[in-house]
Amino acid sequence: MSCVFCQIIEGKLPARVVHRDALVTVFHDRAPITPVHLLIVPNRHLESLNQAQEEDKELLGHMILTAQNIASRMGIEQSGYRLVINTGRDAGQSVFHLHLHLLGGARMAFPLQPGEFS
Ligand code: AMP
Repeated sequence: MSCVFCQIIEGKLPARVVHRDALVTVFHDRAPITPVHLLIVPNRHLESLNQAQEEDKELLGHMILTAQNIASRMGIEQSGYRLVINTGRDAGQSVFHLHLHLLGGARMAFPLQPGEFS
């Protein structure tokens, strides 16, 4: 299996895992862009959000509620956080296994600043 996130989920590649359950695995991003940067990853391989279907509603809801729970554990529930799902080329998706970024621990610009898109 060549998918890097599948390898982490199967325990074949090291990662700083903070949570596992029947549906998702959560670990620290190896190149954090904010002080708190975790990835909520479905255990089942889905290439991107484009592959999600009606039957994945429970999984998608679980990913968001898990992010809320982890944000609370990380102490950023009140200061704030952002959830991001990059999908496809224009969004800069680089790992083709669906994942939700949990970003926080610092003020983040929104909307995107000049130069953050082209
Ligand atoms: P995206 O650009 O939305 O596809 O995000 C992929 C994320 O996965 C990036 O933020 C990478 O830093 C992160 N990443 C890639 N490989 C690993 C790894 N082996 N362990 C932890 N995070 C990773």
